[in-house]
Parts: sequence; C-alpha cells; structure tokens
Amino acid sequence: MAGTFTFTIIKPGAVTNEHIGPILNEINKGGFHISAMKMIKLRTTQAQNFYAIHKEKAFYDALIKFMTSGPIVVAILEKENAVEEYRKLIGSTDPAKAEEGTIRKLFAQSMQQNAVHGSDSDCNAAIESTFFFSKSERFSIFDRREF
Ligand code: ATP
Ligand code: MG
Repeated sequence: MAGTFTFTIIKPGAVTNEHIGPILNEINKGGFHISAMKMIKLRTTQAQNFYAIHKEKAFYDALIKFMTSGPIVVAILEKENAVEEYRKLIGSTDPAKAEEGTIRKLFAQSMQQNAVHGSDSDCNAAIESTFFFSKSERFSIFDRREF
C-alpha cells in the first residue's frame, strides 16, 4: 500500500524570492495537508548527510553551498499516495522540462535552484521526516479531532 505522507523542502532561492506563501498555496490546492513545518538554516554537515547519495556528482559541492546559503522551510505533507502525488505536483527536476502549472515550472530558477525538494520513496519520506522533526512536532491529519 502506498504511504500517506511525504517530506518537502522549500529551498533557499524560493524563500529569498518570497515564494513560501505561493508554494504553500499550491500544496494546499493540490489536496495536501501540512502536518509539520518549520523554517531553519541547514548546517553543512546536515546538507551533506541529506544529499549523501549525490556525493560523487559534479554538482554536489555547488548543491551543498546553495542549500546552506540561506533559510529553508521543511514540512511533512499528507495525502493518499503522497510521494507520487507530490512528485507530480512539483514537476521535473529541470524546470525547463517541468510541466505547465507545476511548482517547479512556476517558481524554479534553474536545475539547481529548483524551488522545492520532494521525497522519492516512502522509505526516504520516513527517513527525511525523522531527520528534521521529533514526534512531538508532527500532527497527523488522521489523528486530529473535530471541535
Ligand atoms: P530533490 O531530491 O531535490 O527533490 P530531484 O529528486 O528531482 O530533486 P535529484 O536527482 O535527487 O533530483 O537531485 C537533487 C538536487 O540536486 C536537485 O533538486 C537539484 O537541486 C540538484 N541537481 C540535480 N541534478 C543537477 C544538475 N545536473 N545540475 C545542478 N544541480 C542538480
Ligand atoms: Mg531526489
């Protein structure tokens, strides 16, 4: 069964360009619930851990520099089949190839400064969410009571 949550980062360029609000609006319009969120600045070691899979790539050093260049917004998003649905909402890694109406088409500046991160599997969504949020900072929509 597909998972019900994914993890996202609004990257430094998008924060600097005042795109936090518009991106969150797209996320809500896409039917996602925000179940955890905060603004932080990554330390170099955190960025290196997060992107360890790309360590051998030519763009790695520039990516670490970029991701630590300013504040980011990290969040956990809930929806049925969240990982796949969110990858559809954000579009291709390269904004030039991203589909019309996707978050990256709307807000990305380049392949590196592509506005947002989205988890690529349920397993990574769980790892990434735990990396940034403690249990007491997560508020699942499935646990909320009406009042
Ligand atoms: P993310 O993991 O951030 O959601 P993604 O899964 O679409 O993006 P990855 O292949 O995991 O893409 O690459 C991670 C990030 O590294 C990209 O979002 C982008 O910021 C940067 N990146 C990837 N490929 C390149 C490239 N060829 N040149 C510069 N930066 C790149
Ligand atoms: Mg990725």
